[in-house]
Amino acid sequence: MKYDHIIVGAGSAGNILASRLSEDPNRSVLLLEAGADFPDLQQLPGELKYLYGDRPDVYESEHLWNYEARATDEALPILIPRGKVIGGSSAVNGAQFLRGVREDYDLWAEWGNDEWSFEKILPYFKKNESDRDFQDEYHGTDGPIHCRRFTPDEWGPQQQAFYDACIDAGFPDCPDHNRPDSTGVGPLTFNIVDRVRWNTALGYLDPARHRMNLTIKPNCLVHGVIFDGNRATGLLLVSGGERFTVYGEEVILSAGAIGTPHILGLSGVGPGDQLAQLGISVVQDLPGLGRNLRDHPSIDINWSSKQVFPLKEERVAAGAITLRYTASGSPYKNDMIIYMNNRLAEAPGRSLDESKDAGISVYLCMYLALSSGELRIQSTDPSQPPSLDYNYLHDPLDRSRYREGIRLCADLFKHAAFNDLVEDRLAPSDDILASDEALDLWVKQQVRTAHHICGTAKMGPSSDPLAVVDQYGKVYGIEGLRVVDASIMPHCVRANLNATVMAMAEGVADFIKQGH
Ligand SMILES: Cc1cc2nc3c(=O)[nH]c(=O)nc-3n(C[C@H](O)[C@H](O)[C@H](O)COP(=O)(O)OP(=O)(O)OC[C@H]3O[C@@H](n4cnc5c(N)ncnc54)[C@H](O)[C@@H]3O)c2cc1C
Repeated sequence: MKYDHIIVGAGSAGNILASRLSEDPNRSVLLLEAGADFPDLQQLPGELKYLYGDRPDVYESEHLWNYEARATDEALPILIPRGKVIGGSSAVNGAQFLRGVREDYDLWAEWGNDEWSFEKILPYFKKNESDRDFQDEYHGTDGPIHCRRFTPDEWGPQQQAFYDACIDAGFPDCPDHNRPDSTGVGPLTFNIVDRVRWNTALGYLDPARHRMNLTIKPNCLVHGVIFDGNRATGLLLVSGGERFTVYGEEVILSAGAIGTPHILGLSGVGPGDQLAQLGISVVQDLPGLGRNLRDHPSIDINWSSKQVFPLKEERVAAGAITLRYTASGSPYKNDMIIYMNNRLAEAPGRSLDESKDAGISVYLCMYLALSSGELRIQSTDPSQPPSLDYNYLHDPLDRSRYREGIRLCADLFKHAAFNDLVEDRLAPSDDILASDEALDLWVKQQVRTAHHICGTAKMGPSSDPLAVVDQYGKVYGIEGLRVVDASIMPHCVRANLNATVMAMAEGVADFIKQGH
């Protein structure tokens, strides 16, 4: 059997493509996913289902890929979790549902991707969402992903204190972070229904499962693309310990910003010299594959608190109140973000111990970092992950913006609203805070991922030496092969990525239907 479209990866992008393309009964769609399938909400394990309140730790889930990466020379290797399940990373993420700023998408257009200006992507943001709080030209009300903001009566005392401290420090009130020109402090949008993380399997795939032209195959690890000359004709995969080949008119890779470049490299599409050294025969030399690795670096700053905030009593998700601001002298609007957490920060590999972890934390992230890293294929064995070098804080502006951000957090917590809540800042100490050099070192040791890896198969015009795909997601030099996921973002937008990945998948589904 030959399918019209074979999609690899049932994550944020893959499920949307599978759902939208199979709306046309004349198209046959095969969706392949390495992870498990939980075909309805009742079967979904607790850690994948619930975002806050009493629930198992998502970082201990068996439905994850756990990669390791270099953050900086001064840091120990950091853990990079990604979703490995039908739902992908949208099933394990923090459900913070934020759009980039207008300038992000207009930059993409300026760089030669005129289909992705803010004006052109906006209809796809709207198509994707049902916003419970706002109905205007910027918001959708009948899309598959439900979203809302926490109201002041739901905020905990620490969120209220943070909001008050930010307002008194002169930051504007921001009732809706998803308005394109917004900035300041206010409730972040979350894609949740009650406590349930509304992932793309729940929103898009489950309502399409009955279609006879849509075949969903979980537990299938794709090893590579099959070519006839410069045309992709199918895929090689392993399912239940057996090897299979499947054929399609078009192969769409939506395996995420690590999985997709991994599959491309193993298939001979990527930096020719790097692949040839491994003995991989080069089908298409694309030097940009794996370069331009982008992310948002993040740091937790912790205070001991005068009270415990137990998980089971959490009434809001972590980061329910958020400050977006522009660093002093920075040309990049809203390049910094501070999330007020409920309690000491959770981190991959670190589960919370309620008896010991009484504390409050903020999560300080740089949402437009200048430093970029690299992903490299390091083995022909598909079970061996690529190497990941995030190369955080290489650029001096990244370091100075972090110094300012940490000092800002320390000042905000001196506000009287925190007097009854907070005891001491646990780290960095006052001595470290006072010295630029010591603070840079502390940040380089502590920095970790905000989980927003992207850009590893960048889209751009053919004149861009790092571009791997054109603005329709089509891989340069290869027929019948497209990439649609976070890999193709030219830079890391000033937002958590899920909303943008979903809007891009909606957009490319339309491009395909229109014959691009
Ligand atoms: C812990 C965590 C927290 C996050 N928090 C937020 C947040 O709060 N808000 C936000 O907006 N974003 C968040 N993100 C980021 C966001 O979820 C991702 O950027 C987005 O889901 C990426 O979508 P994608 O389609 O590119 O990839 P994914 O959703 O990761 O999908 C890729 C799929 O491909 C499958 N796959 C990979 N390789 C193969 C293979 N060889 N064969 C078959 N299948 C394969 C994977 O198993 C996966 O299901 C978070 C991410 C993580 C991991």
